[in-house]
Amino acid sequence: MKKWLAGLFGFLVVALAVAQILAREKTSAGGGSHEALFWEKAEGGKVKCLLCPRLCVLPEGQFGVCRARKNVGGVLKSMVYGQVVSANVDPIEKKPFYHVLPGTKAFSIATTGCNLRCLFCQNWQISQVFPHDLSSTPMTPDAVVGAAVKSGSRSIAFTYNEPVIFYEYMLDVAQLARKQGLKTVVVSSGYINPEPLRKLLKHIDAFKVDFKGYDEEFYLQVVGGTLDPVLESMKVIRQEGVWLEVVNLMVPGKNDSEKQIRELVRWVRRNLGDETPLQFSRFYPIYKLQNLPPTPEETLLKARQMARQEGLKYVYTGNIADREGATTYAPKSGEAVIERQGYFVTANRLNKGVTPGGERIPGIWE
Ligand code: SF4
Repeated sequence: MKKWLAGLFGFLVVALAVAQILAREKTSAGGGSHEALFWEKAEGGKVKCLLCPRLCVLPEGQFGVCRARKNVGGVLKSMVYGQVVSANVDPIEKKPFYHVLPGTKAFSIATTGCNLRCLFCQNWQISQVFPHDLSSTPMTPDAVVGAAVKSGSRSIAFTYNEPVIFYEYMLDVAQLARKQGLKTVVVSSGYINPEPLRKLLKHIDAFKVDFKGYDEEFYLQVVGGTLDPVLESMKVIRQEGVWLEVVNLMVPGKNDSEKQIRELVRWVRRNLGDETPLQFSRFYPIYKLQNLPPTPEETLLKARQMARQEGLKYVYTGNIADREGATTYAPKSGEAVIERQGYFVTANRLNKGVTPGGERIPGIWE
């Protein structure tokens, strides 16, 4: 059997086991009700949340924009702590991380809620609802880490919905995970304030930011947020020395002009460095943008070419069949060192991050 087919079969077996655990423990209880971090009291029994740039001020009984945090009796509570609505064992390439433990499994969890409103959200069924709208599986941090170890995963991924909004849960799981020798990886839009981000990063090995576009108007109109906090977050991640990869989903006619791509690429190179992996990912019509076509393949190929011409060393394409765009090349020799097919690694010629020709490729390799 081909190596990647065997890998796929392995993932299916483990996924089935995880689905069985979740099905057994599913409850209709919504809400973890765990006191939140990063908030302060405001006038008249209100509370002010300091976790993300929205800085919601909430009267008694009200949820924040994220639908995950709520004023309960003058105290800000996370209503999603430990309430898992999705748990899967995924290839880490699916996150996508291309420079983190290639070919390994990532135990991936999500709750409900999000602090953004992307019109192209791929997980809107869980991100745009309240905790009481969906049944969930209560999982303590211990249970998550135990399940991750049992599944043979090398990492825990906080993903699918926006992990920033289950901050306290993520923090507790991440601390335990590291004690068990697991890596911790976050897949996020980066819409978080610097202080909580710095605290979180002490327990995180790798961060993937969905950089929606270097375009304030796009953030306002299509994402439902603002650009500057995301730029700041990426700089903070870099400053704190946590491994960072960036993905840009290219939405036709919205964020895929030559100007927008060039500005994004130049910002990444200038502020994050030319060794930052950047992936251009294909959009498919979904949620509130079903009227748009999928991203033309030429757009993705052109964006990758432009980013390479601008000096980025590790540029990928995603969600399309593009052998070159799925391969990691050593920048000096040009040798292909990691090859992928879909979410599976078909060849890995690195030895502890070093190519056969002696070049060191940045990332987390063991
Ligand atoms: S995390 Fe939620 S409650 Fe807090 S400021 Fe952001 S959207 Fe508002």
